Amino acid sequence: MTYPELYLMIDGQRVIGGGRRTHSVVNPATGDVLADLPLANAEDLDAALAAAQRGFLRWRDSTPQERSAVLQGAARLMVERQEQLARIATLEQGKTLAEARIEVMMNVGLFNFYAGETFRLYGRALVRPAGQRSTVTKEPVGPVAAFAPWNFPIGNPGRKLGAPIAAGCSVILKAAEETPASALGILQCLLDAGLPGDVAQAVFGVPDEVSRHLLSSPIIRKMSFTGSTSVGKHLAKLAADDCKRTTMELGGHGPVLIFNDADLDRALDTVVAGKYRNAGQVCVSPTRFIVESGVYDRFLTGFVERAEKIVVGDGLADGSIMGPMANARRLDAMDRLIGDAVEKGACLETGGARIGNAGYFYAPTVLSGTPLTAAILNEEPFGPVSLINSFPDEVAMIAEANRLPYGLAAYAWTSDAARQRRVARAIEAGMVGINTAMIGGSDAPFGGVKWSGHGAEDGPEGIEACLVTKAIHEG
Ligand code: NAD
Repeated sequence: MTYPELYLMIDGQRVIGGGRRTHSVVNPATGDVLADLPLANAEDLDAALAAAQRGFLRWRDSTPQERSAVLQGAARLMVERQEQLARIATLEQGKTLAEARIEVMMNVGLFNFYAGETFRLYGRALVRPAGQRSTVTKEPVGPVAAFAPWNFPIGNPGRKLGAPIAAGCSVILKAAEETPASALGILQCLLDAGLPGDVAQAVFGVPDEVSRHLLSSPIIRKMSFTGSTSVGKHLAKLAADDCKRTTMELGGHGPVLIFNDADLDRALDTVVAGKYRNAGQVCVSPTRFIVESGVYDRFLTGFVERAEKIVVGDGLADGSIMGPMANARRLDAMDRLIGDAVEKGACLETGGARIGNAGYFYAPTVLSGTPLTAAILNEEPFGPVSLINSFPDEVAMIAEANRLPYGLAAYAWTSDAARQRRVARAIEAGMVGINTAMIGGSDAPFGGVKWSGHGAEDGPEGIEACLVTKAIHEG
């Protein structure tokens, strides 16, 4: 298949050319340029803002039936276009086709869930004396500026578009310049399902220019960002200047507590597959393996054996289990973080190097005995690297899990029911998986605490985050 033409989608129109600056989109499996993406200028962004204001005034009065029909229609189109969408995602991001297909279907599930939720945006009536009435209503917050990263090129834009549309908001999406065609493909499903062109738009540009422009406009009433903690803090400050609502889905450093009584084979099969999914470029990736000393040697041996069996290759090729990293920055980050850890005394059990010179492939890597002072045990590695350390008991393991300022996803493996509840309660995280790596679902809130952000996407909470509450009192 050929990679599609790229454009900005403003007010239902494809905007392209006109002497605009461009960004070259690269296939991470080969390093080849796929296409040039036009970048928005200030006039483009002003046009998008004006349309978003119009779109909001129109869409806030839409009925649940209308919103639901658009979301369900888009979900149906995504099913029809699954193969095309998945191939585009693999071409521009690198993940395997199997993962990209699943990503499309997860988005289908989310849109269908939101389609149902549009009917359940309830308010309430308060008890008052006869003749008086007080009600609490939910209203859409207003036009949303949404920033989506490249690691889930379909799922991230889907989340950023689905919730505002279900809530009755308009949205300007700036998806990652590295993966624009997937985002445009999802938006097109919504437009083809009948969404008016001023309700959802897509712009690309120089990220800092776009975010400053959109966030300085009083038209935008909410900002939703997924990405690194450092960029998130910067954007939260810009949003605060105009008291805009925010949903921040930031970085993580997933702790995985493996207790002596864990079902070790099941744990290993699950966590190794989970770790190297999307080459580890997942905010909820299991990363810090905090292993009780009694099973440490067996866990480490089993982990390395499994990691070495992972077939790394082009995501489009049959048999590839792990694709390349999404961009050259990640390769540099891996070399820097792994190099620093080894220099500080970590043992490199396997991997630790690029594979070949074409594309951005990196070997599945395992480090053991990494000192807590190493950078990799403090900043999010966002790559195919596992850090396995031994700890004496539950108290020390929970202390290590909570040591970092991140609090997104955490995992624990133990067969002791009392400990399952204790650990789930003690860990500071937005999502905890006990004997499972499945910590999401269209009906479940997805989000973190501390430096991992605030607010949630997915579930009823994802729509709630796009609503404001109004109390109306009638005498
Ligand atoms: P980055 O921090 O520069 O960018 C992260 C994302 O934010 C990208 O999509 C980028 O386009 C966007 N961005 C950057 N500056 C922006 C700005 N001023 N305004 C608006 N958007 C902006 O880094 P990167 O090299 O692309 O990714 C590296 C790090 O980002 C990773 O180590 C990881 O910690 C984090 N990340 C997190 C997620 C996540 O799901 N939480 C996804 C992708 C990247």
